Amino acid sequence: MNSSKHTHHASTPNTPDSRSDPATLQNHALATDGHIQNPDKSMEHTKQIGTVPTADVEHHVDHAAMEHGSGGHHGGMSHDMSDPAIAAAMENDMRNRFLVALVLTIPIVLYSPLGRNFFGVNLPTPIPAEWIMLLLTIPVVFWSGWIFVSGAYYALRARMLDMSVLIATGVLAAFGASIVLMIAGNDEVFFEAAAMLVTFVLFGHWMEMKSRKGTTDALRALFDLVPPTATVIRDGKELDVPTADIRAGDVVMLRPGDKIPVDGEVISGSTSVDEALVTGESLPVDKATGDEVVGGSINRSGTVTFRATKVGADTALAQIVAMVQQAQNSKAPGQRLADTAAQYLVVLAVGSGILTFIAWSVFGDGGFVMALTFAISAVVIACPDALGLATPTAVAVGTGIAARHNILIKDAATLEGVASIQTVILDKTGTLTEGKPSLTDVVTEPRFDGAEILRLAAAAETGSEHPLSRAIVAGATSRNLSIPEATSFQSVAGHGIEATVEGKVLLLGNAKLMADQRIAIESLDGRADELASRGRTPMFIAIDGKAAGLLAVADTIRPSARETIQRFHEAGIEAVMMSGDNRRTAEAVASELGIERVFAEVLPGQKASYVAQLQREGKRVAMVGDGVNDAPALAQADIGIAIGTGTDVAIETANVVLMRSDPLDIHRALTLSKATVRKMKQNLGWASVYNILAIPIAAGILYPEFGIELRPEWSALLMSLSSIIVAINAVLLKRVESKLAT
Ligand SMILES: [Mg+2]
Repeated sequence: MNSSKHTHHASTPNTPDSRSDPATLQNHALATDGHIQNPDKSMEHTKQIGTVPTADVEHHVDHAAMEHGSGGHHGGMSHDMSDPAIAAAMENDMRNRFLVALVLTIPIVLYSPLGRNFFGVNLPTPIPAEWIMLLLTIPVVFWSGWIFVSGAYYALRARMLDMSVLIATGVLAAFGASIVLMIAGNDEVFFEAAAMLVTFVLFGHWMEMKSRKGTTDALRALFDLVPPTATVIRDGKELDVPTADIRAGDVVMLRPGDKIPVDGEVISGSTSVDEALVTGESLPVDKATGDEVVGGSINRSGTVTFRATKVGADTALAQIVAMVQQAQNSKAPGQRLADTAAQYLVVLAVGSGILTFIAWSVFGDGGFVMALTFAISAVVIACPDALGLATPTAVAVGTGIAARHNILIKDAATLEGVASIQTVILDKTGTLTEGKPSLTDVVTEPRFDGAEILRLAAAAETGSEHPLSRAIVAGATSRNLSIPEATSFQSVAGHGIEATVEGKVLLLGNAKLMADQRIAIESLDGRADELASRGRTPMFIAIDGKAAGLLAVADTIRPSARETIQRFHEAGIEAVMMSGDNRRTAEAVASELGIERVFAEVLPGQKASYVAQLQREGKRVAMVGDGVNDAPALAQADIGIAIGTGTDVAIETANVVLMRSDPLDIHRALTLSKATVRKMKQNLGWASVYNILAIPIAAGILYPEFGIELRPEWSALLMSLSSIIVAINAVLLKRVESKLAT
């Protein structure tokens, strides 16, 4: 219970029972807990994707639990909410605790001096009022409020002071002292203070939980990339076998559209493969005999056979899974602002209570009961109800504003954490760029017309699903050209296409295709090189055996990307670009955007280590990405941000999702986070300073001279007032919306 990571680990074995979908269930059992705790359910996928080093993971888990006793959340409520079923159950539990506390606290308050003296309520007292209050308070403190007591226990065991320690101190001091005072025959008790504190803080926790967007499992999404079965050729026969049963050396057959089950080497046929998984690049890669294929990527065009070389835990995908899991488990939860404030307030509360008791015992003449009464007043006033609302109200308003601007912030700690980001690493393809190519240039030889060659090229490309072909067709369509029909069409594997359109023979493809067909393209070489140096992909066109021109396509930069980088510079935040793409293309895009630091040709495994490298430089790092290859880096970063059009894996690994896929939304999230943190600080200030000033009065400093003491009903009123101020102040966060509009 004491840390989100710890709880995550401990609570997961029960989770599959709450699911109905057997496929997800299987995946989930392995995804979070490995094969050890749930062998029957996870065995199949364990074999299929390989075993993840659980021992290592558990080491990290324990370490995190030790160091971060409260898991960055408050007390015993620090459950992992990454599973929607757990998230819903937790929210219901919190709501029930709050409602029970509320229903019981109302009569407690009415029986208290507050009800009697202020509201003039006179409820029947078949037994003495303090006995009624005691009976009603017991379930509030020991059921509803038990999460604070247990949370405090774990925090203290981890040698930490946090919010739950503060709340438990206030509640238990008020409750315990009331019992002592009752035994001593005093009719002045603090039960209503204990009950109100529990109720207010539970309300805050419940609100904060409601604003969370429980997410699904990143690892489960990763497993979905592997097909459940594959076609293996054994003894000359095609067999449909479970992916888990493929062994190294098996010959696997792939048809167009098949997901590739394991890593291997092509032994016959040729095709193009979508390897976005590995490279993050959406352009298919041509594969022929001898080329390597990677499990989880998608076979696009041809039928090929390949020999399995790596299966199970050795595959590239299994290694991504392991990296994501390791990064998630070793990530220390950020210290929440409220917990930082609570550290000091615990010391203050306990310290002033002890001091008050000693001072009254030594110098006072009211005896033990009076000393205890003043001491408890001091402790209780230092644990203000408003403190329980100070940050949850700001979180609830902040995440609501974010959602209205299509920014999904998954939890409260993230909303706080974005504000302190110093470095933003941005993936190139799909993040800063659209992720799919579009037509950028039409170059013509003399005697040829640009619109004409584009029209003919589009006709030749219409039948093809290749992204480059679609870019050309879309380019022609957007220029309002009417595209004729090709009468014959033949694709030349790896090099381009040959087609007949309106009686003309068209060749469209790379320099190799032109050379094979003996078409002179020297006059276009210079332009082709120049386009390539700017990160564009040039394609040659020949009509009836003569070079006619060039079409260039490129993955275009998102419209707001440049301004986003500019705003980061203005805010003093370092922007770094990271890409699996080649250095030349990466640097072309970076210089166009004004990004100085570039990591290019980065493999999936390296992405996370670059994030870690920047973290070792002492920076708080946000990673923005869209691909499977970004997942380990998103998990490693202090804040992972996914693009809405990205892969499920990225979206589920990230803490923030930009639903509009607009890079400028990263900056909006930053603005909002800063405003929220500012509001939290104000609220914590309101909640504590106000009460700190009341401590001396509660401690009875004015009593000997003036006979003034802070009556319990007055302190209850003061606390309610500060709670209202805090709540109203949080709602004022909405004023930040004007800044987000631009
Ligand atoms: Mg990408």
